[in-house]
Amino acid sequence: MGELGLWLGDGLGMGELGKQLQAIRKEKELSLTEVAEATRIPLNYLQALEEEEFDVFTSDVHARGFLRNYATFLGLDAEEIVRQYDELRSNSRVKIEATRVSASATGRTRRSMAGADALLGLVIVALVAMSGYSVYLRRNHVNATPTPGPAPTPTITPMPVYEGTMYDLDVNLDYVKHTLAVKQRIDYTNTTSETLPNLMLNVYPNHYRRSFELKDVKVDIDGEQIQPEVFPLDVTLRVELPRALQPGEHVAVLLDYALSLPQISPDEEFSGGGFGYSKRSVSLGNWYPVMAPYREDRGWYGLKYFPVGDPYVTEVADYNVTITATEGVIVAGTGQGVQEGSRWHYKVDKARSFAFAASDKYETSTSQVGDVTVHSYYFPNNAEAGEVARDTAARALELYDELYGTYPFTDYRVAETEFAGAMEFSGLTFLGSAFYDQYDGTTRAPLIPLTAHEVAHQWFFGLVGNDQLTEPWLDEAPAEYSSLLYYERYLPDDVEWWWLYVVDQWAPTGKIDNLVYVFRDNREYVDAVYRRGAQFMRDLRTAMGDPAFFGFLKEYQRIYAYRLAKSRDFFALVQQFTTADLVPLQEEYFRQRILP
Ligand SMILES: [Zn+2]
Repeated sequence: MGELGLWLGDGLGMGELGKQLQAIRKEKELSLTEVAEATRIPLNYLQALEEEEFDVFTSDVHARGFLRNYATFLGLDAEEIVRQYDELRSNSRVKIEATRVSASATGRTRRSMAGADALLGLVIVALVAMSGYSVYLRRNHVNATPTPGPAPTPTITPMPVYEGTMYDLDVNLDYVKHTLAVKQRIDYTNTTSETLPNLMLNVYPNHYRRSFELKDVKVDIDGEQIQPEVFPLDVTLRVELPRALQPGEHVAVLLDYALSLPQISPDEEFSGGGFGYSKRSVSLGNWYPVMAPYREDRGWYGLKYFPVGDPYVTEVADYNVTITATEGVIVAGTGQGVQEGSRWHYKVDKARSFAFAASDKYETSTSQVGDVTVHSYYFPNNAEAGEVARDTAARALELYDELYGTYPFTDYRVAETEFAGAMEFSGLTFLGSAFYDQYDGTTRAPLIPLTAHEVAHQWFFGLVGNDQLTEPWLDEAPAEYSSLLYYERYLPDDVEWWWLYVVDQWAPTGKIDNLVYVFRDNREYVDAVYRRGAQFMRDLRTAMGDPAFFGFLKEYQRIYAYRLAKSRDFFALVQQFTTADLVPLQEEYFRQRILP
């Protein structure tokens, strides 16, 4: 228990830090409003700092950042002020921890922070957080020039969390023939305010000729299984209900179908590379009939096939999946997995999607980050790259956990599959063999920024969803910029290389808020949405300052987790964190103005 000594010091009493800030401000004859204008720190945060109401901040990192900016503005020693803050916070935290230790002295649960080593853990976490944060502050300049801007919007009222849809999938995979026989049950409750005469399923495999063969479909509303009329169109399947489903009513849809997988071309980069078979593996991404999102104003959101990007939109749901595979085949899926012989059981709650890859060649290795197990699957010739993918994923999870909030699952998997791109799913990423094959042992191997990008999708796409057809920038721009943040944190000497390799060498053009349909090919799409997207995130960070930028990202994740966010939600929340003028940024990067 010697670690306790680190936490207990004489230190400042409650209230003194805030009083100190207030006294110096008054000495300078400045009002809080004047400080807010000059520093771009929102007024309510300045008040919170002076009154030591630190709970209004989303995290210590968030609070420390604003404190540092405010202290610098007042001409105080910012490091000393932050040190005082940490001392104040850790004193109150030790009191809480001490209570919890005595209350639960008998045992530890998996996620429990009680116990002596947990206290040591807190010390380490705090030290890591502080040392890491200095990386972000290196490029942060406190701009004391008053910036006129719109007043922060007072409240954010997101849509209710979409909950309750459950998928039960029983899959038989014939690995040699590349075919699957699937029995699927969807339990759906009408959470809309409208009466639904039909249900809409998005069935991506319908795009391929003779890939998806529906053998039987039944619906059950009143305890009786009835065969409904169904209407396939493009990549949708409309199911006419025997009677309309009232708000709050439940229906079960039972589907029996076969899938015959298309062959994946090795140079495929996007959605086509996520569904099919290749020489050494099969990829099952966007492979099952999934409920279309329901939009209160426009009804079911049935998708259209488009060959650019990854044009899907899904709500989160619970999944319970059993995959019986050909013997000797290893299955890498979404969620918590249990293997019994050739049967693989995967279970996951509130996932944006369920996907799996399978191969009779896979080698695997795992590592642990906190409570999360990171699994890497790779072909025998790429063991070294497979371990690098595993370690990059583990470190990225650790970083984004700190920056964006807790990763929601117990497992994360990264699976080598044979194509030339990468594709994100909940708890799982397919990474193309091309990147493993070209791994050269350096920190500048494309495998690393790509893995970091894909892991960030667990937050931007997985937790906070978006319409990947009309607003693909909402997940791709932050994911791409997160890859840079990975380099800032772990490979700072290669940050310049990152900008050159990932963005600048392409001299990207285009507006980032274009619909996916506007782009003629993936190059145009990646230029505008990813590369210009990263530049936009960089400029947004500069305009807001680091504390507000990182505070915003964390709050965005907290508020919109398990929902589908829109561009206007993104900007409305940005405006709660800064009064900086965002119009020039919108004019530079956006086709249409989103802000009022
Ligand atoms: Zn991406």
